[in-house]
Amino acid sequence: MFKKKIPYGKHFVDQKDIEAVKKVLKKDLITQGPLTKKFENLLATYTGAKYSVTTNSASSALYLSCAVLGLKSGDDVWVSSISYVATANCALLLSCNISFLDISLDNFNIDTSILENKLKKTQKKNLPKVLIVTHLAGESCDLKKLYDLKKKYKFKIIEDASHALGSSYKKNKIGDAKYSDLVVFSFHPVKSITTAEGGAIMVNKYEIKKKLEYLKNNGIIKDRKIFKTKTNSNWYYEQHYLGGNFRMNELQAALGISQIKKLKKFINKRNEIADYYFNNLSNNLILPKYDSSNICSYHLFIIRLKKNSIKLKNKFYDYLKKNKIDVNFHYIPIYKHPIYKKKVKLPLSEKYYNSALSIPIYYSLKRIHQKKIIKIINNFVNYN
Ligand SMILES: *Cc1c(COP(=O)(O)O)cnc(C)c1O
Repeated sequence: MFKKKIPYGKHFVDQKDIEAVKKVLKKDLITQGPLTKKFENLLATYTGAKYSVTTNSASSALYLSCAVLGLKSGDDVWVSSISYVATANCALLLSCNISFLDISLDNFNIDTSILENKLKKTQKKNLPKVLIVTHLAGESCDLKKLYDLKKKYKFKIIEDASHALGSSYKKNKIGDAKYSDLVVFSFHPVKSITTAEGGAIMVNKYEIKKKLEYLKNNGIIKDRKIFKTKTNSNWYYEQHYLGGNFRMNELQAALGISQIKKLKKFINKRNEIADYYFNNLSNNLILPKYDSSNICSYHLFIIRLKKNSIKLKNKFYDYLKKNKIDVNFHYIPIYKHPIYKKKVKLPLSEKYYNSALSIPIYYSLKRIHQKKIIKIINNFVNYN
């Protein structure tokens, strides 16, 4: 047993991060200013996307992405069943009609052959306007295949890449939006880098980027060239869209700028930890099967019990908690939440639900602690 609880994930903030934030507090601009712009530029440069629009969370970024694509009441939106609820809530907030897609038990992302079959069987008028996919744990979905289906069936794609800053699909950085329309990142403390709360949208189309900037700022426009009313008043502004305040502030951006310098180091360390788990966890567990031509950020390390039994999973969870290993489960299939009022049961998502847990993985996790975690886990699965 550990003396102090070991979390499943944790941020890493050093003195440089602290100094960067402190400096902003003495400035005149603490909400909107040069640092938010600088952080956006760094994200675009890193990922290879043309533009980046920061937000106050990934949940806001997902909502803005749905809004900017013009989603409205009754529109069909298809979503990965295994994701954080925000991945679907963004479309429910616009009263869309949501369908959930089953997953692959290799990488827990949507299974593209299941998606293709569902597209084939769906009447034209019920085909999705938008597909929202999650790169679970940071392992990329098969983006090329999704892109081919997007072209054929004419839907838009939003990548929920909240787990996947620092990941790659083949040779492409996640976030370049090469195969999709918009890509969303989260900077919540457990993610690849943190701004405390925060998110960003990566996009290649200028008009979409502009509209996102209006939407995150209550729909207000200050560009005289597009005013509906002719004016010579320099204080004048107009609201063209219904938006809100979804802005990131300068304190958060300063932290992000400082954190992104450490991204490579963070991802390398997470990969070392993952390798050690792969090499040392018991064969009585099922470990993820990831594509070796991708780079995974290892936001999570997901293990599965061989038996799909909620009773055994509960016992395993309670045993790990008793040993002060703070495991977690990512995620309950979204369709199971009462608010979604769905009667579906997707067979592979159900298996995942009955067998999966996320075990500790984060930059400052020490090898001696990891050895102990492995010993405790193996001890359970070898005798249960
Ligand atoms: C964390 C997370 C979000 C939401 O991120 P916030 O920044 O906390 O709003 C959305 N989707 C997924 C898959 C996440 O893991």
